[in-house]
Amino acid sequence: MLDLLIRGGRVFTGEFWFEGDVGVKDGRVALLGRNIEEDAERIIDAGGMIVIPGGIDGHVHFQMPYGDGFRTADDFYTGTIAAACGGITTIIDFVTPEPGQDIVEAFHRRREEADPLVAIDYGLHVCVTGACRWSPSALRELYREGVTSYKVFTAYSARGLMMDDGVLLRFLEEASRVRALVLGHCENEWIIRDNLERFGREGRLAPIYHALSRPPVAEAESVQRLGLYGLEKGVRILVVHLSSGMGLDAARMVRLMGGEIFVETCPHYLVFTDEVYLREDGLKYIMSPPIKGARDREALWEGLMDGSIDVVGSDHAPFNWSEKLAGRDDFRKAPGGVQGTENIIPILFSEGVRRGRISLERMVELVALNPAKLYGLYPRKGVIAPGSDADLTIIDPEKEVVLGRDTLHSNLDHSIYEGMKVRGYPVYTVSRGEVIVEDGEPVARKGRGRFLKRGVSQL
Ligand code: MN
Ligand code: MN
Repeated sequence: MLDLLIRGGRVFTGEFWFEGDVGVKDGRVALLGRNIEEDAERIIDAGGMIVIPGGIDGHVHFQMPYGDGFRTADDFYTGTIAAACGGITTIIDFVTPEPGQDIVEAFHRRREEADPLVAIDYGLHVCVTGACRWSPSALRELYREGVTSYKVFTAYSARGLMMDDGVLLRFLEEASRVRALVLGHCENEWIIRDNLERFGREGRLAPIYHALSRPPVAEAESVQRLGLYGLEKGVRILVVHLSSGMGLDAARMVRLMGGEIFVETCPHYLVFTDEVYLREDGLKYIMSPPIKGARDREALWEGLMDGSIDVVGSDHAPFNWSEKLAGRDDFRKAPGGVQGTENIIPILFSEGVRRGRISLERMVELVALNPAKLYGLYPRKGVIAPGSDADLTIIDPEKEVVLGRDTLHSNLDHSIYEGMKVRGYPVYTVSRGEVIVEDGEPVARKGRGRFLKRGVSQL
């Protein structure tokens, strides 16, 4: 007796296509086939639907404090619910140690925050900042806890996040000993600092100056620098939230030189251009790095097509409008971050697959298979195969949704996607065999998600 049988769908497993059924037992995929006759506790008719592995969003910031008392709008419950409604079954959030705090201690505190609330499975990357305490033994201890990835910053010295280059090289050397993946927030500190000071003096404080303060070269230089350091120390680097064509070329160059460098971009860079900063509500779109021009947007789509971008994550870090308004008279005071975890799959499907820019196979690579491998979760996650966790997303390829505050499930009080029409939408989400989104509506229990101990990166 199966627990769940998904019948008659067009199934892309992450590795091959077939038309037929997926049988689930004890939270895992039990069998794949045509006209499976075994009885099941529950049957979902997937006729006309597309069945894919559940998405993995490797980049979210739920209940994250920021600056002067700000906090991202979603906690680990509402955030994972929103993710699930967008077809995501695994998220990876971040541990951000306080200045002076030990990274292992910070990791345990973050788990205490997340464990009671998560509705889907999750992992944690650990940020190693210029101001926290880390050591080779701490990296080994975190490895035993299932943390196999870290994030470093080449900017944000004012917030204590930036690591100086010398320390960064030493950290990368230690990271290579535990075969860690190192995520990079790549922006050039000094270019940005000079622009922010100058714009401040000149009274250029509207949101568009946020974009102008962080030109593509600020990203590209930092991608190249971190990429070369990774090559030097034998560490795999993942450039997160890549936003520019020049930045992508820098990553390609490091790859040509033999560096193991991987690239993530985010949905907002694929649908908007920097014109959004000229809108009356331009503050809503402030995030770092900022959205670039139309040519950059096209370069990112090309990167998705040609394989030079490996994963799409959301960088979900939304702030309510009242908090964004702190930047009303000075963009530098607005908290940076936007929503996205619920939007990755709908946007890639509607804007990418339906428009013929990427294949569905490529979409599944970008949102499930590659992240599973890159973040050390494969083959438990990221693929529909016997023995894998039964994490599945069922997409109705014809369903039309107008994105916005009323149709999205984030706790955020607005949406940067308000009014955007998409065609093709996740309608059922299954996590370890449990239906957690039913016909578009969440039914997941708070705290049912589990912490994932991850292995080493293997993409
Ligand atoms: Mn970042
Ligand atoms: Mn981020």
